[in-house]
Amino acid sequence: MGFSWPSGHTAAAAFTFDLDAEAVWESTPENRSKPGVLSQGTYGPKVAVPLILDLLAAHGVRATFFVPGINVERHRAVVERVAAAGHELAVHGYTHTSPTTMTPAEEADELDRALELLRGLGAAVTGYRSPSWEVSSVTLELVESRGLRYTSQFMDDLVPYRHAGRRLIELPVQWILDDAPHFWFSNASWTKTIRSVAEVEPIWTEEFEGYRHLGGAYVLTMHPQIIGRPSRLALLDRMLARAVAAEDVWVATCGELAGHADAALSDAQTGDPA
Ligand SMILES: [Zn+2]
Repeated sequence: MGFSWPSGHTAAAAFTFDLDAEAVWESTPENRSKPGVLSQGTYGPKVAVPLILDLLAAHGVRATFFVPGINVERHRAVVERVAAAGHELAVHGYTHTSPTTMTPAEEADELDRALELLRGLGAAVTGYRSPSWEVSSVTLELVESRGLRYTSQFMDDLVPYRHAGRRLIELPVQWILDDAPHFWFSNASWTKTIRSVAEVEPIWTEEFEGYRHLGGAYVLTMHPQIIGRPSRLALLDRMLARAVAAEDVWVATCGELAGHADAALSDAQTGDPA
């Protein structure tokens, strides 16, 4: 595909975690008075994140955690622990409200509150991922106007690209590389069966090999409350091992991928076409 990766590498991979906790459940209003439902989200910061941090450390991989600002207030110690371990913090709304359901003023307020909270931890925040990857007509403008450098929420490519008419870089994602469509379960709908790791591992592995072959940026999107179950932690362990063992693959944070893409795409634009 011709994308230029840092020397010695022909593809890239980023491990990303959306630390939604209770907020993703609260986006359905009737759940807000159901402690049992919300406890599924609590499992993320309470149990899963420390286990995930251990795995990342064991493989020497730094990841990107997209955090709703409200979870800096509710789960500050665990978010601080993520940052202290060297991982990147990025914005995932303040609550977990889809931008498509908010006015531009509400969306701006959400973004500003989240940024203030994350930057208040001392984090150099450069990235944004919208809740549920839903984007309004003003999302990109708001994100860029706050000095952020990249988003990670569109599904229209295998390599980073620059949003039209903007400086902003996109690091594309896809449902196939998200743990939620494979494993998410809600008792609000008993029609969805929980998949086994044995069903999902070939999908994620074959996609990884495909990205290597094509020279793309493999962005795996996970949620601590979903990937942090014992069986799935073993899957994450093996995916980390595969990525680290692939010497042609640059394993980096989203911020690092976006920084590289920004420079590489600028060179491509200003370079001599001959
Ligand atoms: Zn989310």
